[in-house]
Amino acid sequence: SKKYPEIKRDSRFAELTKEHVTYFHGLLGSESAVLDGVSKDASEDIEPFNSDWMRKFRGHAKLVLKPSSTEEVSKILKYCNENMLAVVPQGGNTGLVGGSVPVFDEIVISMQKMNKIRSFDDVSGILVADAGVILEVADNYLAERNHIFPLDLGAKGSCHIGGNVATNAGGLRLLRYGSLHGNVLGIEAVLPDGRIMNDLLTLRKNNTGYDLKQLFIGGEGTIGIITAISILCPQRSPAVNVAYFGLESFDHAQRAFRAAKTQLSEILSAFEMMDGRTQKLLKNVSGRKMPLEGEHPFYCLIETSGSNTDHDSEKLSAFLEHVMETGIVSDGVLSENQTQFAELWSCREGITEILGHWGGVYKYDLSLPIADLYALVDDTRERLTKAGVIGDDDSHPVVDVVGYGHMGDANLHLNIPVRKYDKEVEKIIEPWVYEWVQKKNGSISAEHGLGVTKKPYVGYSRDDGMIGMMKQIKNLYDPNGIMNPYKYI
Ligand code: FAD
Repeated sequence: SKKYPEIKRDSRFAELTKEHVTYFHGLLGSESAVLDGVSKDASEDIEPFNSDWMRKFRGHAKLVLKPSSTEEVSKILKYCNENMLAVVPQGGNTGLVGGSVPVFDEIVISMQKMNKIRSFDDVSGILVADAGVILEVADNYLAERNHIFPLDLGAKGSCHIGGNVATNAGGLRLLRYGSLHGNVLGIEAVLPDGRIMNDLLTLRKNNTGYDLKQLFIGGEGTIGIITAISILCPQRSPAVNVAYFGLESFDHAQRAFRAAKTQLSEILSAFEMMDGRTQKLLKNVSGRKMPLEGEHPFYCLIETSGSNTDHDSEKLSAFLEHVMETGIVSDGVLSENQTQFAELWSCREGITEILGHWGGVYKYDLSLPIADLYALVDDTRERLTKAGVIGDDDSHPVVDVVGYGHMGDANLHLNIPVRKYDKEVEKIIEPWVYEWVQKKNGSISAEHGLGVTKKPYVGYSRDDGMIGMMKQIKNLYDPNGIMNPYKYI
C-alpha cells in the first residue's frame, strides 16, 4: 500500500488463482463475480470498489463478488476461509475511515444485490430487510407506511443499512431515537467459516443469553458479514419543523441547546452545530445563498418533530421568543415549507461534501464533554497557524480548520480541508489531537469507526485490557484473520 508503507501484505493470505476464479464463476456467474479488466462493459469496471468516498484510499482487488443470497455469502466465506483468501465486505462504500476498500488485493464482497425488504409490521413498527438495502430506499418505503428509519445521515442516498449497522452509524436522529445498539432487534450474519448466525428476531425483549448480535453492530466487517437486519422504526411525525440560528459564541450554542432541551423537550429531534467557517466555505464553494444575512461565529440547526402541528407550533413560538429576547441567538429563520426545510438541512448535510473541494480533508470524529467541544478546534487552528501551514494560496497545504457536528450527542467533527495530503501536516496534527481527546476522557472515534485510519490510535480511548478482550473476540470468530484485515484493532 502506497498510503501505508508501514503495513505489509500478510503472506499467509493466498493470491488469487485461476482455480479460485473458476470456483466463483461457477457459484455466482461471471456477472456477479467480476474480474478486473475482463468485462468490456464500462459500468462493470471494478475501480469504484477499490477507492473510497474521500478518494484517500485505494486498494488493488482483482475480484468483486456480488452475492444475491445468504447461502451464497456462506459459500463464498467458507471457500475463502479454507483457501486463505482475505476479503473486504462492502456496503455503499461511503465509510470515512478507509474500512470499506481493500488495503492490498483482498476480494471485495459487495452487498449491493442483497437489496430486498423482507417484511414490515405496521403495528410493532419492525422492519426486516437485507443488508444491501440503501438507507434512503428503506426510509422512503417506511414513509409510505407512516414510519421512519431511526437513523438519518448525509450519505443516505448511497449507504446500505447493513453498512450502517456494521459501522454503528450515529447520524442526525440519534439524539431522538438512540443508537443502533438499541434499535436493531435482530441480525442475520455469516461467519468466516460459512456458519449462518440466525438471530433475525423481531422481539424487543429477549434475555436468553449473551446478546451476540451486538458484536456485529460496529464490528466493521471484522468477524462476519451482516446479511439482514430487523430494526424498530418509530412512527413518522406529521409535524416536522426546522430552525436555523446564528449565534455569537460557542457558549451561546450551549445555552441554546439547554433551552431547546428544556422548552422543546419531547419534540426536539435534532440539534446540530456548525461554526461560521464551515458555513462560509459552504457558501463560497457552492455559490448558494445562505439562509441568514451577514456572518455569525456559530450556527445551530434545530429540528422538532411531533404528532400535533398546533402543539408543536406553540412550543416553537415560545422557544423562539425566549432565545431571541434573552439574546441566546442573534438571528434565526424557521422553515415554512418543505423546500425551505430541505434548504436549511442542506446547510448542515452539505458540509461533508464541500470540504473535499480543495483536494483532501483530514477528518476527526470525536466525542468530548460538550463544554470542551469547540476548544479543540481553536487549539488545532492555533497549532497549524504557528506551524505556518495554513493560508489562502497554494504554497500553504492547509485551507482552514473547521468544526461542526452532532452537538446534541457531544460529537464534534474536526475537519481540516487541505490542498493535498501532506505527511508534515499529518505529523503536526497526530498524535497530538488524540492526546488532547484522551486528556478529556473523550473518544477518538465517536461514530465513523476505526477502519484503517484510526486503528493505530485505539489505545487513546481503550486500555490494554479492553483491547486484549477485543482481540480474543476477533480470534474466536475469525481465527484465520481473513475478514477485513489490516484494520480495526
Ligand atoms: P461501507 O462504507 O461500504 O462500509 C463501512 C464498513 O462496514 C467497512 O468496514 C465494511 O467492511 C463494513 N461493512 C459494510 N457492509 C457490511 C456488511 N453487510 N456486513 C459486515 N460489514 C459491512 N456516519 C455517521 O455515523 N454519522 C453521520 O452523520 C455520517 N454522515 C456521513 C455523511 C457523508 C456525506 C458520508 C460520505 C459519510 C457519512 N458517515 C456518517 C459515515 C458512515 O459510516 C457511512 O456513511 C455509513 O454508515 C457506511 O455505510 P456503507 O454502506 O457505505 O458502508
